[in-house]
Amino acid sequence: MKYIVKQTGQKGLGIYASQKIAAYEVIAKVDYAREVTPDQPLHEGESYDHQMYLPDGRVFLVAEPICYFNHSCGSNAFLYSADQQYYIISKHTIPADKEITIDYELSAVNGDTWECKCGSKNCRGLHTWDFFSLPKRIILESLPYLDPWFAQVHGNRIKHVLNQ
Ligand SMILES: [Zn+2]
Repeated sequence: MKYIVKQTGQKGLGIYASQKIAAYEVIAKVDYAREVTPDQPLHEGESYDHQMYLPDGRVFLVAEPICYFNHSCGSNAFLYSADQQYYIISKHTIPADKEITIDYELSAVNGDTWECKCGSKNCRGLHTWDFFSLPKRIILESLPYLDPWFAQVHGNRIKHVLNQ
């Protein structure tokens, strides 16, 4: 196992590297606790933030401990899906004991206003939870880390940004 679950301080539980992780390693496969449906909505104690949206419209609740990967505006890992299986992959070398984070905004559109407290030096602070509301520079930097289905579904909007 390349990671352990620990208290972060302010953000609750988080995932930390248990060893040095090289760039572009598969850190974890995302497992689901269950599907969330109108008949089986979220129960008390289950978090909206721990849901994963599949291209076919199904929504799943991410299982522990994978649900404890926190967001950061300066993330060191990203999500990638192939054949509906999600993976968490390192963007660059992650030293042992460093928190492993992903940028939740890379798969968000039309989200609520959110005050991020990730602590990254490039933290976006108070902003709308929507990939396309990000500054163009951040959108371009993030393109290699977009999930393939998000890039496909929102291809028109990405093209619009590229043509600006
Ligand atoms: Zn932030």
